[in-house]
Amino acid sequence: MSNSPDGQGVAAPSGVHAGNRRKGVLIVVSGPSGAGKSTLIDRFLREDSYSQFSISYTTRQKRVHEVDGKDYHFVDEGTFESMIAKGHFLEWEKVHGNLYGTPRAEILAILETGKDIVLDIDVKGAINISGRCAAARLIFIEPPSVGELVNRLSLRGEKEIETRMKRVEEEIARKGEFGYTIVNDDLEKAYGRFRKAIDDIRREDNGKNNC
Ligand code: ADP
Ligand code: 5GP
Repeated sequence: MSNSPDGQGVAAPSGVHAGNRRKGVLIVVSGPSGAGKSTLIDRFLREDSYSQFSISYTTRQKRVHEVDGKDYHFVDEGTFESMIAKGHFLEWEKVHGNLYGTPRAEILAILETGKDIVLDIDVKGAINISGRCAAARLIFIEPPSVGELVNRLSLRGEKEIETRMKRVEEEIARKGEFGYTIVNDDLEKAYGRFRKAIDDIRREDNGKNNC
């Protein structure tokens, strides 16, 4: 018998028992650019059919490998501003000179189906969501060192390394406001800790997503 939200025979995450349908959990992943958030999240989403990525809206230019509607919804500033005015976003921020926003209705609809939502957003946005959604759970991804962060951004081919580095100290200073901190040193070990954090979050889930 399937207890998956989509009836595809997906195993329920630990802490959730067959027949015990609950609302999804809002899992907010944040940390400095280049720390490894996408790497950890992408692997998790490939392995776990019980959760879904929240696709943000942004005014940033699309990178070559990115797909509109999969990595982000790429929109112009006018469209973004009118979405703000219509209350479309649960939160939005200007990050590295571009606008980024988390869509409210899409997320709440998915949580209602019982799937968990994974957000990859900046530190201010994460803390903002935490204030609005009492049941959101926050995970901070920390680089092993600032030098290694610069290496990773260069390897990724990032053109705006300096802009991104300006925020790092400020972001790391706020990690105490997150429920979980994962240092992404060795990728395998960090991924194990990331998975365990999500398992723990699911076990403690109180069934609410009040935001
Ligand atoms: P973020 O999403 O936080 O901006 P990414 O996931 O894009 O960061 O990772 C930045 C770069 O670092 C990518 O090239 C990625 O392959 C690499 N990377 C991620 N985790 C590790 C790790 N533990 N060790 C070495 N390189 C890593
Ligand atoms: P990038 O341009 O590298 O994809 O993302 C830059 C930063 O914007 C990252 O820290 C990413 O987590 C953050 N970000 C992506 N989407 C959102 C969003 O919807 N809201 C907020 N506040 N930050 C976001």
